[in-house]
Amino acid sequence: MNKLFEGLDNIHEEIIAIRRHLHQHPELSFQEIQTAKYITDYHEKLGSQVRTNVGGNGVVAYLQGDKPGPTVALRADFDALPIHEQTEVPFRSNNDGVMHACGHDGHTATLLGLAKVLHGMKAEIEGTIVFLHQHAEELPPGGAIDMIKDGCLDGVDVIFGTHLQAQMPLGEIGYRSGPLQASPDRFDIKIKGEGGHGAYPHETKDSILITGQLITNLQQIVSRKVDPLESAVVSVCSIEAKNPYNVIADTVSLTGTVRTFKEEVRNMIESEIERVVEGTCLVSDASYEYEYFSGYPTTVNHQAETEFVAALAPTVPGVQTVKETAPVMGGEDFSYYLQQVKGTFFFTGAMNPAWEMAYPHHHPKFDIDERALLVAAKVLGSATLTYMKENA
Ligand code: MN
Repeated sequence: MNKLFEGLDNIHEEIIAIRRHLHQHPELSFQEIQTAKYITDYHEKLGSQVRTNVGGNGVVAYLQGDKPGPTVALRADFDALPIHEQTEVPFRSNNDGVMHACGHDGHTATLLGLAKVLHGMKAEIEGTIVFLHQHAEELPPGGAIDMIKDGCLDGVDVIFGTHLQAQMPLGEIGYRSGPLQASPDRFDIKIKGEGGHGAYPHETKDSILITGQLITNLQQIVSRKVDPLESAVVSVCSIEAKNPYNVIADTVSLTGTVRTFKEEVRNMIESEIERVVEGTCLVSDASYEYEYFSGYPTTVNHQAETEFVAALAPTVPGVQTVKETAPVMGGEDFSYYLQQVKGTFFFTGAMNPAWEMAYPHHHPKFDIDERALLVAAKVLGSATLTYMKENA
């Protein structure tokens, strides 16, 4: 393992340079042409067998060790966000309005650096390593599902992945068995009443009044239908009905989000929203349209693989704290991989200890402590080699 750690220490500057290059040249989800090419070139220079355009812009590289053993997949996403960067870093985005504000540049640099070091250890590697470079994590339906359909998990026995966390201290690893990230869904509702003169409401079906009642009624789902020991969110985030001051609105459009961790809670809320909409409209003699869009499934970590990473993380140089993390309501399409093969997704702390505060992910001033890339690479590399040794 020392060879892995020393190898990574030796190329730390190169890993940082890769991250800065990617940071300076961000591309939006499903449009990551240059990023995919950069990743492909890097792996090809190492001499890896590379598959491009996997399920879209995805890139998959293979490293076959000289000894037989299991197939371990490591995943890094590489898309950026439609955000105008406001940091002062010298390598800030050259692509105005697009920013790596979630650390995916760091994930990719981590995996490329790790690939380079593991290449130099080919003679000792017991099995095959699959480097999954995934496009479009930020925008449902996401890249993972199409990469899986295109065979990126074929032959894979186990998968590991990490997300850099800007608000978690550097040196900390957060693990969690079972549900880690929520399923982020969306609903659209249209209330169809009957407009008319503001002075003669009895001749109308006032869709704004109906919507007011509806919003209140929707809040009874989480408070009165969901078991208090489960987690769920129903948020109405936008309503639209633009009329002059003296015209009663014909229709109102609403949209919002539902976050849950369990499929049965998710399904119950999906149908309960419709029941509430239907009932509210019935009282007022109005009609409605309702659409529910399922986002990513809940990210559910496998227990044995999670405990495996939690147990080895304290032995990795640079790791100071390893603790069970709380689940988060944000979604992540790593969930699809975990539905197909066993594995775990963990958090790597990336908050510089000198910072008074860290900006959250998706913020225009988001940044990470680049030393976290080395920690992430060491934990992923150590997990890979240890897993191979134990399962060869
Ligand atoms: Mn992310």
